Amino acid sequence: MLKVNNIDISYGDIQVIYDVSFQVEKGKIFGIFGRNGAGKTTLLHGCVNLIPKGKGTILFENNDITNMKTHLISSLGIGFTFQERCVFPMLTVKEHLSLVDENVFSNKKVHMVCSEAIEIFPDLQPLINRKASALSGGEAQMVKLAMVLVRKPLPKLMIFDEPSTGLSPANILRFEEKINELNGKTTIIIVEQVISYTIKLANNYAIIRDGRIIHKNEVKNVEQEEEVVKKYIL
Ligand code: ATP
Repeated sequence: MLKVNNIDISYGDIQVIYDVSFQVEKGKIFGIFGRNGAGKTTLLHGCVNLIPKGKGTILFENNDITNMKTHLISSLGIGFTFQERCVFPMLTVKEHLSLVDENVFSNKKVHMVCSEAIEIFPDLQPLINRKASALSGGEAQMVKLAMVLVRKPLPKLMIFDEPSTGLSPANILRFEEKINELNGKTTIIIVEQVISYTIKLANNYAIIRDGRIIHKNEVKNVEQEEEVVKKYIL
């Protein structure tokens, strides 16, 4: 489904990603782990062309998306959230959620999308008419995650950059439950520092250090792989 082949990424003269390749199979969950500054966000930004690549190619369902504009990559069915706050301060939570379905303009449909989001994160219920400027970091994070999780049609590929950031343990668990429910229905990439829940969800994973993939494996035995990842990144 997604094939990243030998990409390099630099900020000006400073190279951050070196010859990175990985593949994510359709219907699978792929985890990416690495310490602070390893290059995880840069790699994801490169995948959706928020940063140009120095070399390499990226194929999504055999479409070459290497240099495609980010909004066109999204329209191919890739939904992504990044670490930045990325909400519109003057829009309410409900207005954010009404953006997730290109055909949602009836009150009934908006209500359905909001209900679906609240089912995932019940904490959004009392915030539904609140402007994003008045949301805490964790509340804004739930809105961002919900916008991908309830998008219509369901994204073929979902990319989450440190989704647990700012979430309470209960909401991390709710996110985990939703990803479990989506397992096999869509393809998912999760970049995380929190190893314990991500390794349980992932079918395969990669570890990135200093901009290079230093280890990849399938998760056959969760406890065993958790130890391996910890050894590399803690
Ligand atoms: P974290 O887990 O802390 O978010 P990360 O693995 O996502 O880290 P990146 O944010 O991709 O790491 O950063 C990788 C390297 O690139 C770091 O050394 C960082 O300082 C550098 N970097 C990130 N953004 C820029 C930028 N806009 N200009 C120059 N260097 C940058």
